[in-house]
Amino acid sequence: MTPYFFDPSVVQYQFSESHPLKPERLVRLNALLEAYGLLSRLVRQVPPRCELTEILRVHTPEYVSVVQALSEGAPVMDAHHWGFSTYGDNPPFLGMWEPIMGYVSATVASAYAVCEGAPLAINITGGLHHALPNRASGFCVFNDPAIAVAILRKRFRRVAYLDIDLHHGDGVQWIFYNDPTVLTVSIHEGGQWLFPGTGAVNELGEGDAEGTSVNIPLAPFTTDAIWWDAFMQVVPYAFERFQPEALVLQMGCDPHDLDPLGHLSLTAQGWVRAVAWAKSLGLPTVALGGGGYNLTTVPRMWTLAIATLIGVELPDQTPETYPWHSTIPTLSDLKSPSVDPATLEFAERYAHSQVAFWKRYWALH
Ligand SMILES: [Zn+2]
Repeated sequence: MTPYFFDPSVVQYQFSESHPLKPERLVRLNALLEAYGLLSRLVRQVPPRCELTEILRVHTPEYVSVVQALSEGAPVMDAHHWGFSTYGDNPPFLGMWEPIMGYVSATVASAYAVCEGAPLAINITGGLHHALPNRASGFCVFNDPAIAVAILRKRFRRVAYLDIDLHHGDGVQWIFYNDPTVLTVSIHEGGQWLFPGTGAVNELGEGDAEGTSVNIPLAPFTTDAIWWDAFMQVVPYAFERFQPEALVLQMGCDPHDLDPLGHLSLTAQGWVRAVAWAKSLGLPTVALGGGGYNLTTVPRMWTLAIATLIGVELPDQTPETYPWHSTIPTLSDLKSPSVDPATLEFAERYAHSQVAFWKRYWALH
């Protein structure tokens, strides 16, 4: 049975009423897992509150103090230097320490469960991949995937991080940019079109870690077929070369066509193939959530992902008992997004050029 860590305080992780990161997505997800009977196949646990030392594995003590002070409403003169501002992506809010510690603790508990022998542990409320050692970024205050990697590294010699979010997994990449024992792989919409602006194919890692930062940036309106072809041409070989002993999987579901934040055109069933591929590796795995901002796609995509990870096949029709059955009638998408031929051709050519970069790089290194 798979441990599934969930801290109820995370539903208070809401920067403002109008902020796109809506805790409601978790309410609708948990109700769907429940309706399908999946929760009874997971060992649901509220994680113990993690020690500050876990956060200090990747964040500076000064930044941690700033987050605490802002949470308490204490004045912080230069909050924007630390990535917080009232009108930006990360407006600080009173009491934010609790839900932040909630999602971090669930990831820390998942990482320790895997270190202690669990083949898989899940924190669907984690995956906040943009936070930097001393800066909040892109709705992320602490970088829980990086903390998970750091914990797994105590037990496993080489750890891979695979990020299938719409956005580049920049925070995790930079934190391990010089570390040859950590492979970071991110497939995302290219930085010239979307936040955070990074994730180009030539961000390779530094020094003896060169080649352990793998990026596959893709063009707007990339569809299932193009995304999957690029994934399969690059990711399996990157893993084969690196030979990881454990995996942190970030399952942001915002590459979906209906997601409001970006421009990729994936379906739920197209995206979840990457989760099935990750499972097929048979590595000890910490599985995390991530982005996803459409309330009709997030619950079904994460339900599909969790079912895939634990090896359960679900009927595509959602149960009648699910309160959002009428707006989420099926798990998969019944229609493929329609993209005009010229746009599709550009997306295809763009993907091919990224894949070609990797083929050339590997031929030479
Ligand atoms: Zn995202």
